[in-house]
This record gives sequence, structure tokens and C-alpha cells, in this order.
Amino acid sequence: MKPTQPGRKAPETAFAKKAAALWPCAKGSLTWVRNRCGRPGCKRCASGEGHPALLYTFRKDGRQRAMSVRPELEGAMRKAIENGRALEALMVECGIATVRAGRARR
Ligand SMILES: [Zn+2]
Repeated sequence: MKPTQPGRKAPETAFAKKAAALWPCAKGSLTWVRNRCGRPGCKRCASGEGHPALLYTFRKDGRQRAMSVRPELEGAMRKAIENGRALEALMVECGIATVRAGRARR
């Protein structure tokens, strides 16, 4: 590791601090769906209302996946997804900084 200037944090230290502030984080999306239960004579299904369920959808190992989420976790999951987007933006800045640092060294 190259020495850092006094009073200036190493870039990885600054990154770790910013990334830690973005916990909890998640990548994916949150969607309300209306499930059909299949029970004959279900009034909710007959009316088209169905049975609302919250799904967290994401890609893992190249495949689209979904998990049901307890409704009381909706706010926390939305915040986590927002944090995840901020983390991705932070990683783009890391890429730009790495390319620029490489240019300056030549
Ligand atoms: Zn039903």
C-alpha cells in the first residue's frame, strides 16, 4: 500500500466508511402481487381482489428469484433497495477514481 498524505484518508478507508453507512442494502425490487388461492367460492378471488402479497425479486446466479416479504418489512426493504442503489453509484465512483489514479501514475 502506498503511503497516504497526512490528513487524507486512504481511498479504501473512505469507501468502507461510506459503504458501512449504506447498511442494510439490497439489490432487486419490491412488488405487490395479487395471488389466487384456488379455493372454490373464494369471494376475494372472485372479486378480483385476490390475496395481496409482497415479493422481493432479484437475480441470483443468473436466474430471476422471488421471496415473499412480511408486509411490516416493506419500509425496511425499500430503504435497503435505496441504499443498494447508492452503493452501486459509489462503486461507479470507485471505478472512475481507479482509472484516474492509474492515469496519474504514468
Ligand atoms: Zn382466494
